[in-house]
Amino acid sequence: MPERPYNLNPGPAILPLEVMEQAQKELLSFRGKGLSILEISHRSKDYEAVNLEAQQDLKDLFGLPAGYKAIFLGGGASLQFGMIPMNFLAGGAADYVNTGEWAKKAIKEAKRFGTVNVAGSAEDKNFSYIPALPSLKLSPSAKYVHITTNETISGTRWNAFPDTGAVPLFADMSSEIGSRVIDPKRFALIYAGAQKNLGPAGVTLVIIREDLLSKCPDNIVTVLNYKTQVEKDSLYNTPPVFAIYILGLVLKWLKKQGGLKGIEAINNEKARLLYEVIDATGFYRGTAARADRSTMNVTFRLKTEELEAKFLEESKKAGFVGLKGHRSVGGCRASIYNAFPLTGVKDLVAFMKKFESANS
Ligand code: PMP
Repeated sequence: MPERPYNLNPGPAILPLEVMEQAQKELLSFRGKGLSILEISHRSKDYEAVNLEAQQDLKDLFGLPAGYKAIFLGGGASLQFGMIPMNFLAGGAADYVNTGEWAKKAIKEAKRFGTVNVAGSAEDKNFSYIPALPSLKLSPSAKYVHITTNETISGTRWNAFPDTGAVPLFADMSSEIGSRVIDPKRFALIYAGAQKNLGPAGVTLVIIREDLLSKCPDNIVTVLNYKTQVEKDSLYNTPPVFAIYILGLVLKWLKKQGGLKGIEAINNEKARLLYEVIDATGFYRGTAARADRSTMNVTFRLKTEELEAKFLEESKKAGFVGLKGHRSVGGCRASIYNAFPLTGVKDLVAFMKKFESANS
């Protein structure tokens, strides 16, 4: 087998090697039972344990207080763009902050169900910053406020969250879930496609404050109703069991890294090292405003597109894959999610320095 390259893909993305090794080891016989997790009922005791353990590990990791529930859904984060307004907008108005391509997609879907008030936008500067909290035009009568805490494409991140008072705050955390300590009580609903920081594609994590469920209408599609999913413990229909199983292994790995506090310290150090080389001489140029830089998706450019193409080609040869920026913005992007090792960042920094001295 060829040596595994350093994986900087934006998602689906790197998984902890030990998680994949464990999944490989127990693929044919789950927990010594003789059958694979892939071929047993989602209503079996064995799967029930996977489901409950993952919920408990999430509670432990995020410090979820009573009254919050974690559920596992299909359809990706994109389905949440529609499920949220379907359940909670119902002809009313909601505040959305337009921080990037993902926020925009959430806004587009919400408009199908009610009025969207864009409470702030960073579109004037190519989504390179997060609007300042005091500039947000939040409305006290909004059904909810929706933010995207980390914009995967432009590489920006919210460092402080708006105080929305009695209005519930909803957050798409797809590209940073579990990468730093957050206070879950600030949020009424958090969602994230698992395929960046929590596991493989196919499962979406939703953390929801249960008092919201009384607002879910009865006349929507049963499986798209949060009330159904919470009441049935994510087992109303057949869930993506394998993806949830891997997510469970990733949560246990995360606990071993010292939980969110432990991984946040490592993530901060990784991002610091990378931005340091980007800021050093002007050869590389970070595209996100410094105060709002993501620690997960580090976006940067070189002087010309030709030089960027050369950088991408040589980086691949040197063993780094996935550094190409999103097709909508170009440039380069290093996605250094939780499972990307500190040693990998150190090696990437060394490569970037070498490339710089050979090309400046
Ligand atoms: N939100 C954010 C912030 C994302 O980065 C992505 C995917 N890259 C999505 C939503 C859409 O996720 P999915 O493909 O799981 O629908």
